[in-house]
Amino acid sequence: MFKLSITKKENNMKDFKLIISLGMMLLAASCGRSAALLNNPAPEPTTSFPPAVPAQPLLSEPLKDSLARITKKPFGIFVTPQNSPVQPERFYGYHTGTDFEALAEKNNAEVPVYAVCDGPLLLKRTATGYGGAAVQACELENTDVTVVYGHLKLSSISQKTGDRIAQGQKLGILGKGYSAETGGERKHLHLSIRKGKNIALLGYVQNKTELNDWLDPEAYLK
Ligand SMILES: [Zn+2]
Repeated sequence: MFKLSITKKENNMKDFKLIISLGMMLLAASCGRSAALLNNPAPEPTTSFPPAVPAQPLLSEPLKDSLARITKKPFGIFVTPQNSPVQPERFYGYHTGTDFEALAEKNNAEVPVYAVCDGPLLLKRTATGYGGAAVQACELENTDVTVVYGHLKLSSISQKTGDRIAQGQKLGILGKGYSAETGGERKHLHLSIRKGKNIALLGYVQNKTELNDWLDPEAYLK
């Protein structure tokens, strides 16, 4: 094609032919590239195979249907006596744990509480604000943590301090609402997980920096 165009004598015709020729060359080049793409299509995006199996939660459920019971105080909620979803409220600060509510129909039934992880019982006693409280030492993602179970009926905890409690093993039952067993609170479980080995029973902290010492239990139940 190119050769054909430059053999013409007339200048104007020569220019015209040259432009046509160049256009045709470009067209040919682009067709060639399209053909190349057809012959060597880009590989399909790879998808993981076999399909990923949902990972098992790292913690087991502290109560049956745990996630459905988180309706009032999730981890980290900032409560004041004025804004709290629980009324009347006497606390102020960031919630260090997750509250799991006793379902209304179970208010007069025993609600078993199960160990969320595997580890020894560090403490069981009556504590201000909790009534019966138990603390277990566990490892979570290769990190030492302590787990606080608050508002349990203390006498229902059969294990002794130092006893290893297996994940999923029954720890006790929830205390009776608005009694000494729950520290005067409604019937529910306060579950908190604190980084490290030191026991801290604080249910609330006053700033977000302090809250960094605790982990969100809900995140490990999904
Ligand atoms: Zn709580």
